[in-house]
Amino acid sequence: MTAPFEVYGVVGLVAGGVAGLLVGSFLNVLVHRLPRGESIVSPGSRCPSCGAPVAAYDNVPVFSWILLAGRCRSCKAPIALRYPLLELGNGVLWALVFRFAPSWGDFATGAFLCSACLALLAIDAQFYILPDAITLPGIAVGLALSFVSARRTPLEALLGAALGAGGLFLVAFVYERIAGQEGMGLGDVKMLGMIGALLGPSGVVVTVLSASISGTVIGLGLILVKGGSGKTRLPFGVFLALGAIGAWFFADPLTERYRALWP
Ligand SMILES: [Zn+2]
Repeated sequence: MTAPFEVYGVVGLVAGGVAGLLVGSFLNVLVHRLPRGESIVSPGSRCPSCGAPVAAYDNVPVFSWILLAGRCRSCKAPIALRYPLLELGNGVLWALVFRFAPSWGDFATGAFLCSACLALLAIDAQFYILPDAITLPGIAVGLALSFVSARRTPLEALLGAALGAGGLFLVAFVYERIAGQEGMGLGDVKMLGMIGALLGPSGVVVTVLSASISGTVIGLGLILVKGGSGKTRLPFGVFLALGAIGAWFFADPLTERYRALWP
């Protein structure tokens, strides 16, 4: 199988980045509307403050936000920095995924994983929820794309989904029994199921390890700075999202090195 970058080079990389910017714009719609239970197809984009429809020329990813100096053209209300950041983040990630994907199937897998995780990250950070509307179709997409992946088989995708969702469900269940309170929501369980379907078992392990470590470090840091009781709730989906994106790029080389340690 030939890597897309070997065939299309920098032109493909730029095209991948531009496509990522446009999809990033759609992610902003998801992040705003899914938690509010609004339709994601209609009406067209509107200013959250004054409701004025956003014209196509004011809806160009990143550039419009800069040209409008981060304000609505009609009411001058500030437009959150999240909008250009999400677009730019998704564009950069799609370009990087294009650079390193070993096949078109893996490009689709990496691009979908990055976009879904960025949307979930933004929603979880703000609302502490991980909508089924992203995670459940995400499991199906992961299983389907495993048939065209150079990196993992459909069986590995299935095992990854089972390990991710099943493992986290078990942890959440045991924690609730011992601590007497809910530590993790079912949203986290379904999200790790999606990550497992997209990355396979080794990706799940790398994701959970890095999410637990970064979550613990940030959590302890917050307690030190803000002086919480240790019960300050962290949106764990944010750390799962960052861990999974990192795992798409690094999990395979990492597990190969780990295996090399044990002859
Ligand atoms: Zn406005």
